[in-house]
Amino acid sequence: MSKLPGFRIDGSWIRSMRGEKVPVDPFLPYGWFNEQELTLKGEVEEVSAILLTNRECPYKCLMCDLWKHTTDERVPVGAIPVQLEYALEKLSPAKHLKLFNSGSFFDSKAIPVEDYPRIASLADGFESVLVESHTAFIGEKTLEFSRILSPNLQVAVGLETVHPEVLPLLNKGMSLAGFKEAVVFLKANDISVRAFILLRPPKLSEEEGVEWACRSIDFAFSCGVDICSVIPVRSGNGALDQLAAEGLFQEPSIKSLERVLAYGIALNKGLVFADLWNLEHFSTCERCFGSRKERLQQMNLSQEIGIPLSCSC
Ligand code: SF4
Ligand SMILES: [Zn+2]
Repeated sequence: MSKLPGFRIDGSWIRSMRGEKVPVDPFLPYGWFNEQELTLKGEVEEVSAILLTNRECPYKCLMCDLWKHTTDERVPVGAIPVQLEYALEKLSPAKHLKLFNSGSFFDSKAIPVEDYPRIASLADGFESVLVESHTAFIGEKTLEFSRILSPNLQVAVGLETVHPEVLPLLNKGMSLAGFKEAVVFLKANDISVRAFILLRPPKLSEEEGVEWACRSIDFAFSCGVDICSVIPVRSGNGALDQLAAEGLFQEPSIKSLERVLAYGIALNKGLVFADLWNLEHFSTCERCFGSRKERLQQMNLSQEIGIPLSCSC
């Protein structure tokens, strides 16, 4: 592990490292796309993902870049359903819906509670709806939304890492006990859970990054999580770029992502996915990148470990 920098990593430092936000319209989602995903039923099905514009998350996690497409104030009541309608009109039909809001769906300063009924009615034709939330916002509002929602609810929660020194450094304001408590609560209420797990957060070497991502998958499944999604940590949010300049952070390699995904799938305790967003960031070899990406895609969809690739890189 690398040494800590000479300055204190806290919310104000993380914030001070940020660049400008991208201008957003509170009545327009900032992204929408369809993708294929293996579902808990074991079938590959179409999923519509919508990136909702809303107020910035009150947490300031070290690795987060989601603040870039957020507003400073809460969006007006009614704006989120308008965004949803807009994206759903543009997207081709899908069985499942993912609503990403760059923070916590159950934070009423992000998604107004008054909008739950219209959101639920717009989601009516889907089989499942995924939303994301910090553990601190999981509770009565989660149950309130789940009760009025016809599709099955799935909540994605950032576990990030179980490393005892790195988790506090991430400034996430969450303990492992808090994570476990949230998972147990959701599962007891028939809500499925997806955990986000970081591959190589700051301070860890490549090998340590792999080891702690695997340990984090173990922990997530031991808590009762249904799906683990492994996210290679990317620079670009200011704070991580500064830590990279100090030698305290380096992006992981695509090969490590392959190793962690293979480890998680082999456990056979639930679904394990590799996040493929901006995957080219993590490869330095043009010769094998395409085949590695294809292998990861196939492993995500089949949960079978493809033949490892060899390349002179
Ligand atoms: S809780 Fe999630 S959205 Fe909020 S700052 Fe942390 S990583 Fe970003
Ligand atoms: Zn190569």
